[in-house]
Amino acid sequence: MGLFDFFQSDIAIDLGTANTLIISKDKVVVDEPSIIAIDKNTNKVLAIGRDAMQMHEKTHENIKTIRPLKDGVIADFHAAEHMIRGMIKMMDKGKKSFLPASHRMIICIPSGITEVEKRAVRDSAEHAGAKEVYMIHEPIAAAIGIGIDIDQPVGSMVVDIGGGTTEIAVIALSGIVCDQSIRVAGDSFNKDILDYMRRQHNLLIGERTAEKVKIEVGSALTELDDDAPEDYEIRGRDLMTGIPKVIKTSYSEIAFAIDKSVSKIEEAVLKALEISPPELSADIYDNGIYLTGGGAMLRGLDKRLSMKTKLPIHIAEDPLRAVVRGTGMALKNLNQYKAVLMT
Ligand code: ADP
Ligand code: MG
Repeated sequence: MGLFDFFQSDIAIDLGTANTLIISKDKVVVDEPSIIAIDKNTNKVLAIGRDAMQMHEKTHENIKTIRPLKDGVIADFHAAEHMIRGMIKMMDKGKKSFLPASHRMIICIPSGITEVEKRAVRDSAEHAGAKEVYMIHEPIAAAIGIGIDIDQPVGSMVVDIGGGTTEIAVIALSGIVCDQSIRVAGDSFNKDILDYMRRQHNLLIGERTAEKVKIEVGSALTELDDDAPEDYEIRGRDLMTGIPKVIKTSYSEIAFAIDKSVSKIEEAVLKALEISPPELSADIYDNGIYLTGGGAMLRGLDKRLSMKTKLPIHIAEDPLRAVVRGTGMALKNLNQYKAVLMT
């Protein structure tokens, strides 16, 4: 490592609604929930990422937790900037340099982003210390991360189910041929579970408990042949008595609770297939559909989609990291991927 490297480092950022990941020198150096906690009186940042998540929904009136991204785009600029800066700092920690490192950054952005939103991402990155900022569309980054040869004249369909949005894109010749984006994804499942527990069991639960339930016993199918999880105990507050209580739930019940949201994702996939040019449809018929993003890990989702579309469904390896992996590969081979980078 030369002296120059000591001060300069290139980083790839996946700024997601749910999670922010940073790759530097081929390694994931930051993987944290996209959330910060601030002191309401002084506006000072109290915690970022996992530490802030610990505080979420447990705060008193002087502390506020903020998720700066909503529906895939920056909803709170101030908070987003603090978050990016804080996460870069986490990465620089341990390196004893008296000058702040300057970074070349690639950040991925949702395919449907507006010019104004793009500017916001760039500004946040620059304020956070970036010297040069490149942007790449998320579905392209996901495809690179999955290992698809994006520059071939062959169509590939990528479905990225994140926290706030599900993005479906057909990619060929290094570009997005058509895409669909819906605001139904991981957060919607959590909300469905929360609503269902209140309605059906008079049980009030928080977002984090809903998330836990989804991960422990979430399912897209009411009947799973293999990998069916055991019943799970949910703790919350009884709406009638106000006293904490516990109920047991099963994956079938959760599949029922989130069924409508899963159907919306199914419909969006069908719609994307419908608007694909026929020559690319033929490719998708042969190669199937690639699922990525944390939502790809929902039990039975691959099977449900394959029953609906009659196509092979592949879950990306380590789906929470496919996008940042692809962004990192683009960073490493800036020249090769010039066509898909925006400055
Ligand atoms: P984003 O890119 O929007 O930050 P991610 O790709 O990081 O989103 O995915 C986060 C979402 O994936 C969250 O809603 C999270 O609850 C969900 N998720 C993570 N693991 C699982 C799992 N095992 N089963 C179902 N959903 C999951
Ligand atoms: Mg994402």
